[in-house]
Amino acid sequence: MICPKCKEMSLNSTILVGYTIKTLMGNISSNDEKGNFHYHDTNISTTRCECSNGHKLEVKNSVSCPSYPNNCDYHKDSVIKVIEN
Ligand SMILES: [Zn+2]
Ligand SMILES: [Zn+2]
Repeated sequence: MICPKCKEMSLNSTILVGYTIKTLMGNISSNDEKGNFHYHDTNISTTRCECSNGHKLEVKNSVSCPSYPNNCDYHKDSVIKVIEN
């Protein structure tokens, strides 16, 4: 994982992982008519991190259905956001 802010400024840094917040919603798992197993995680897991140059980051973790991408289009990409003070 690379701090986007440091990448922008061509600095080297290490990411210190803070805490993770996870929403608690019911997940949907099922088998479709073709026998493909689906697990659609509706929870958003957000991790707060800080890089060694003091930038505060928020990372939303990626979640994909086990049948993605061949038999399902349910997926979320990992997003790194810089929190501006
Ligand atoms: Zn940084
Ligand atoms: Zn699915």
